[in-house]
Amino acid sequence: MSRRVLIAGNWKMNKTPQETETFIKTLVPSLPADLEAEILVIPPYTNLDRAGQLLSGTDVSLGAQDLYFERAGAFTGAVSGDMLVACRCGYVLIGHSERRHVFGDGDDTLSRKLNAALDAGLHPILCIGETLEQRNAGQMEAVVAAQLAAVVDGLKRAGDIGISYAYEPVWAIGTGETATPAQAQDASRFVRSWIREQLSASAAEAARILYGGSVKPDNAAELLSQPDIDGALIGGASLDPEAFLQILLASQPGG
Ligand code: PEP
Repeated sequence: MSRRVLIAGNWKMNKTPQETETFIKTLVPSLPADLEAEILVIPPYTNLDRAGQLLSGTDVSLGAQDLYFERAGAFTGAVSGDMLVACRCGYVLIGHSERRHVFGDGDDTLSRKLNAALDAGLHPILCIGETLEQRNAGQMEAVVAAQLAAVVDGLKRAGDIGISYAYEPVWAIGTGETATPAQAQDASRFVRSWIREQLSASAAEAARILYGGSVKPDNAAELLSQPDIDGALIGGASLDPEAFLQILLASQPGG
């Protein structure tokens, strides 16, 4: 089965609505007509409505960085899956390492968020990855397997909506330090084998596994050429439309 490459830009807590408009109006006209990858931008909540309007009718998809698992009510500061869909989001990140480590999202919360995303009809991108300490202790596979197992109920019910995965070693996020292509491939292969064993062979074949962690125009092509890597989740380099475009071009066959 051939999986369509997904190149996703996670803007984190960056850009105003006006800056979002400038970004989209710069990026969209510069996209080549024969681009094979799916393109996804993931702005902060405050920019989603405007971004959704500007991206309507373009080839660029829209996603959110997080959601809350309740549908509505007295949850100050929270945003539901239905609200994201109303802003034309098709995707949502679940369990980004900053949600896990800065905001303390644990297994139960993430399991509920994954289910809430599926309830809303959003395509989740489940982020997983080990810290440097865990890697140095030889625990990469055990950590990733535990993160997957914690949300296995949601993974099992993903069905037609499907799910994507982002292997993001915490030590490579925003540090300028990139996993080698061999390290990224090794972890992605492990994720796919876990899906095969715990879910099904067809789920493993269909699963898109992205790599994230200091992806840049000059390292993207080699990372994306690995057999089990089906795309990239990009933080810092996705804020600049020119750098993001260069990564998109690097994802083209032969790029
Ligand atoms: C990320 O935010 O998921 C990420 C990988 O960030 P960066 O590309 O800046 O390392």
